[in-house]
Amino acid sequence: ATPTSIMVGTGRAAEMGVLFRKGEALQTLRGAKVVALDKTGTLTKGRPELTDFVPAPGFATEEVLGLVAAVETRSEHPIAEAIVEAARKRGLKLGAVESFDAVPGFGVAATVQGRKVEVGADRYMKKLGYDVADLLPAAKRLAVEGKSPLYAAVDGRLAAVIAVADPIKPTTPEAIQALHALGLKVAMITGDNAGTAQAIARQLGIDEVVAEVLPDGKVEALKGLRQRLGSVAFVGDGINDAPALAEADVGLAIGTGTDVAIESADVVLMSGDLRGVPNAIALSQATIRNIK
Ligand code: ADP
Ligand code: MG
Repeated sequence: ATPTSIMVGTGRAAEMGVLFRKGEALQTLRGAKVVALDKTGTLTKGRPELTDFVPAPGFATEEVLGLVAAVETRSEHPIAEAIVEAARKRGLKLGAVESFDAVPGFGVAATVQGRKVEVGADRYMKKLGYDVADLLPAAKRLAVEGKSPLYAAVDGRLAAVIAVADPIKPTTPEAIQALHALGLKVAMITGDNAGTAQAIARQLGIDEVVAEVLPDGKVEALKGLRQRLGSVAFVGDGINDAPALAEADVGLAIGTGTDVAIESADVVLMSGDLRGVPNAIALSQATIRNIK
């Protein structure tokens, strides 16, 4: 493309809220075969809410929720905010937290008023040596509904299954349909539970799911997609997404996301509306056609 046609193209994109940080991306985008998207904060609003709390036999909801929420006051994960808010809404008093520990991609642990509390994904519980078999049916049922199940343990015993759900952005279904109409494959890359990811993918008509990816595993997931399907555009918002945004053939960051994600991207979707992705791809196709 000529510098002029790229200037015109990026100018039109800007009018649609799609900011090209690198002009070449307008050409590279045309060759994309697959659009891979992060789930939380990209496909979804990134503001989960606590939907279910299933105490294990011998445990009471309010007590366990109070302990778990106390630990989560120390975490910045969106899941943590959902749990703390739910506890506050119930008027629970949260105790003082000692020796807090966060294991990225797994969960969090701390001592709350002398009680050991651990909260996180099933892989965290397995890592800590718990047998989740008794609570697994409850967790699976919640995952099928597209909710993200977590486990809580208190004083060395599994105490509850907790589910959070993050609403899909209202513009996401239309964005995915438009990508399909352009002939692209759509993939999801997420750290979330496989059952949950599959349920959401089915709901949205997403073709490929890579789930339970550890925070440093997104680049590898992206390379796998590229090997099988071709040139990859990756869309993400989080700190964890920065390496994949840099590695992708074209990286598109959510404008309301983290600074690191934006700095690693070629393109910024100013409002976080994913319809900007098919719009930008259509524009890149039109721009290249015009100069031929
Ligand atoms: P994602 O952003 O896709 O949820 P993360 O890598 O941040 O991916 O976390 C992976 C999983 O680890 C979460 O889905 C959750 O099950 C668990 N986890 C992480 N942080 C916390 C936390 N503060 N409280 C409870 N669970 C957590
Ligand atoms: Mg995210």
